[in-house]
Amino acid sequence: MKEPGSVREIVAGPVDVPYPWFMMKRISVAGLAGLLLPLIAYCGGHEQDAPHWSYAGAEGPESWAQLDPSFATCGSGQRQSPIDVSNPQPEDLANIAFHYQSSALNILNNGHTVQVNYDPGSYMELDGVRYDVLQFHYHAPSEHAIDGRLFPAELHIVHRNTGGGLAVVGLLITEGAENPALAPFVDNLPEQEADARNAGITVNASDFLPSEQTTVRYNGSLTTPPCSEGVQWLLLARPVELSAGQLQKLRSLFGHNNRPLQPLNGRTLIEDDTP
Ligand SMILES: [Zn+2]
Repeated sequence: MKEPGSVREIVAGPVDVPYPWFMMKRISVAGLAGLLLPLIAYCGGHEQDAPHWSYAGAEGPESWAQLDPSFATCGSGQRQSPIDVSNPQPEDLANIAFHYQSSALNILNNGHTVQVNYDPGSYMELDGVRYDVLQFHYHAPSEHAIDGRLFPAELHIVHRNTGGGLAVVGLLITEGAENPALAPFVDNLPEQEADARNAGITVNASDFLPSEQTTVRYNGSLTTPPCSEGVQWLLLARPVELSAGQLQKLRSLFGHNNRPLQPLNGRTLIEDDTP
């Protein structure tokens, strides 16, 4: 990006250029727009061209679909997330095989959540398909509800297969004992919006998982704009614990960063009934 000084050059330039005045004006306006618009976008945060959205107020969830044409699915989608989980149908499903390894704590604050970009090589196998771990992040309070009840927080581990299909493992979090596996994450939350930095420590997502790994599965969407559908959701039925102090750290950053519950619209919830 050019320095502000070059804006003055563009503005001053046409005076000496032998074009008619209306041509000069077009050059000046085009030159200014080209320089200033990226600058404005940059100052708005590091999601340079993405439209702004939030969890409350005029840019809150009820307005997401209207904020940008690319967000239309947030309003028109029929398979949206999160949902209230009640009366899932028990079924004997093949267990998920988790192959998670440790990763450097590549941590960032994108203004909506704190996220860790996971080192390559960790994956899960779901019905014979490999899904690589991309990142994990949190919401507080939880996004999904069980029988109408929200939890203090929820962790999302986001995976992608080679065809681009997304699968998210959701961990509901209750208040209880201090969680040492999540301490590296909770203790290094960047308070301000910031690009990813390596915190110099490691984290292992396999240590986040509860010992009993039965899941409730359904087809849903991203819970943030653009709310894209075709996301395979795998909610671990057994919550994990964080201490009151750890939960307070999660809550201290964004107020609340959970999308409201979305209609089920006849979708089937399946609960794996075999640990
Ligand atoms: Zn999420």
